[in-house]
Amino acid sequence: MSHESQSAPWNAIETANPDERREVQLKRLQQVATHAYENVPFYSRRFDEAGFVPEEVTSMADLTSVPFTTKEDLLAHYPDGLVATPKDDVLRVHASSGTGGKPKVVSYTENDLEVWNEVVARYYSGAGMTAADTYQVSLGYGLFTGGFGFHQGAREIGARIVPMSGGNTERQIQMIQDLESDSIGLVTSYALYIAEAAEELGLDPRELPVSTIFVGGEITTEAMMDRIAKRWDADVYSNYGLSEIIGPGAAAQCDARSDSMHIQEDHFYPEIINPTTGDVLGEGESGELVLTTLTKEALPLFRYRTGDVTSLHYGECACGRTTVRMDHVTGRTDNMVTVRGTNIFASQVETVGFDLDALGEHYRLDVSREGPMDHLKITFESDTEFSGDRADLERELLESLSKQLQVTPDEVSVVDPGTIERTEVGKVKRLYDHRTFDTE
Ligand SMILES: [Zn+2]
Repeated sequence: MSHESQSAPWNAIETANPDERREVQLKRLQQVATHAYENVPFYSRRFDEAGFVPEEVTSMADLTSVPFTTKEDLLAHYPDGLVATPKDDVLRVHASSGTGGKPKVVSYTENDLEVWNEVVARYYSGAGMTAADTYQVSLGYGLFTGGFGFHQGAREIGARIVPMSGGNTERQIQMIQDLESDSIGLVTSYALYIAEAAEELGLDPRELPVSTIFVGGEITTEAMMDRIAKRWDADVYSNYGLSEIIGPGAAAQCDARSDSMHIQEDHFYPEIINPTTGDVLGEGESGELVLTTLTKEALPLFRYRTGDVTSLHYGECACGRTTVRMDHVTGRTDNMVTVRGTNIFASQVETVGFDLDALGEHYRLDVSREGPMDHLKITFESDTEFSGDRADLERELLESLSKQLQVTPDEVSVVDPGTIERTEVGKVKRLYDHRTFDTE
């Protein structure tokens, strides 16, 4: 990839004066709120009850009077009860995978699809992708937004796209080699899966042509990105997104070494709340990300609770973009486990474990109940190069975890590489709570 073009903004609004952008946001909020009020009975009722009058909105802060929209609201109106446009205007439907029960169905008008293309193009452009690149899209094409979302953004750039979809790993590796893919887009954990498969074939992933890796679709910690970068000798760029809001591309990392992602805030307005009280939190405070769509036509959502835990940072970034940044997501409010009264995210365990070079990239958390007590077991694979004493390594891991988790695991186990189950297609599962139901 050409590094001269690294971090080039795709649209002028990315580097605009924040006051100017605030004007754009406000105008768009008035428009989208009016649109929803007139076309979605759920929102006309909600706005009336809250005393929120779209034409009277004078600042973004007026939004705080609007109640949150939740995943449950979407499911209660399944499949398309919250859609604000006639069916004729809907050009595409996607749906979230949804673990058990009905999926969340999302609709897109022509303009919604254009916005989506644009925000994903911003992501690639920030990473230096050009029309000269060959880009392998290795996320599932289908109802899942990953494949099509990643694909369409690269069309804007004009790159040569290899639409592999997910899975069929040996074929993925063959295409990387034969077509000399410069970059690859995938669900984060799949980057490790392909690297391992390449090694099993006797190949060194660092020698493969891929120099840039685009990841997302799962909680992606900085520690995980470091591991992937080393494994492939490539730059790794993360993005944040969710089907309900647009799909991938709602926020994007501008530099492979950056600890945060720029939110495309001319389209998606962010707030951080205390997930328990719903109070809006300030800059730098960690809480649940809430997003309002400012330009969506088919499925406008107001103060949508994403369930993702992060924090916001204002002020200009070294890259020149002025849009607000969010930290890499540290956990999900619905994918957190409470052990003896303390909340633990799998991502915290990951960050601690990845600090130890003797440990590999695969791990799992098992919580069970032994009598009246919660029992937390953490299992990590050792690194393929590891040849030291396993008991010493387990002690070292236990010590680091106890210091950083605020709860001491009852059992820490280091196992051989390849022992923990891999996920080839879809999102990786690392947290197993056996107390209420067996999730395996
Ligand atoms: Zn930046």
